[in-house]
Amino acid sequence: QAKAAGGNTLRFFNDQMQVRVMERVRLERDLQRALQRDEFRLCYQLKVDTDERPVGVEALIRWQHPERGLIPPVEFIPLAEQSQLILAIGQWVVETACEVLSRWADDEAREQLSMAVNVSAVQFHDPGFVSQIKAVLAESGAPAERLMLEVTESVLMEEPESVRNTLAALRELGIRLALDDFGTGYSSLNYLKRLPLDELKIDRSFILGIPHDASDTAIVETTLTLATHLGLDVVAEGVENDAQFQWLKARGCRVFQGYRFGKPVELESLALAATSA
Ligand code: C2E
Ligand code: MG
Ligand code: MG
Ligand code: MG
Repeated sequence: QAKAAGGNTLRFFNDQMQVRVMERVRLERDLQRALQRDEFRLCYQLKVDTDERPVGVEALIRWQHPERGLIPPVEFIPLAEQSQLILAIGQWVVETACEVLSRWADDEAREQLSMAVNVSAVQFHDPGFVSQIKAVLAESGAPAERLMLEVTESVLMEEPESVRNTLAALRELGIRLALDDFGTGYSSLNYLKRLPLDELKIDRSFILGIPHDASDTAIVETTLTLATHLGLDVVAEGVENDAQFQWLKARGCRVFQGYRFGKPVELESLALAATSA
């Protein structure tokens, strides 16, 4: 009897696994076609200053799947990164964001805003990356100094000389560079000292415990001090409530991002009322 039950259990798992494998294969196939079918969307989330005035936005990708609805990036970016697909997707993101940025250049209420774009490690280490960015800037006419590229610590772990060269080449174009999700990866303080970065984004997981969690407050305070001394701008990610906002403000943080100020929304829904004060 035990044997029979075991057999059924095994069969059950096999069926489940097969369903999962098939779903993944289907998702991968759909992902291949998503670009041609124009199914990707960018949402934009505000970054604000201490007076809650918008200083920029971060572009965040979504996939409008015909049957499954809106799929968040965590569910397809890792898949895209396993193939070369991320290169084409990343190119689309940069092009789309730069088109918006170039339109803003003629718009008094928006000309001061920066546009941040997330860059995958695969994309960053692609030999054509810098020239691709350069070409998109030239074609769109977007002002390079308003474009910000966000990379995570994992990007910086590769061969140090080549990372440095790529960052320097991007900076040469006038682009600003941010270190995203700071504190979650294998960051070495040595990177911060040696690499040409402009901004640190303190990861949401550390903002979560403010103002009560002793470790989180210590980590965030130390990061703010460190960044100031290194001449880096700091952005607090994932600010959800006023207690976090006030605490961060009192400790010298100048730029904030999070649901407290707005969720990622479509371009038309961006609340920019307070921009031109
Ligand atoms: P990220 O770059 O660190 O983006 C911040 C994520 O935190 C976004 O999730 C945003 O919606 C979410 N978030 C912002 N404020 C709050 C808050 O107050 N509370 C909470 N709980 N969450 C908040 P999203 O849009 O799902 O993106 C997740 C990640 O996917 C991004 O993390 C980024 O690593 C990646 N990603 C998004 N768009 C792109 C893209 O165009 N290219 C690449 N390579 N990666 C992307
Ligand atoms: Mg980001
Ligand atoms: Mg982040
Ligand atoms: Mg994050």
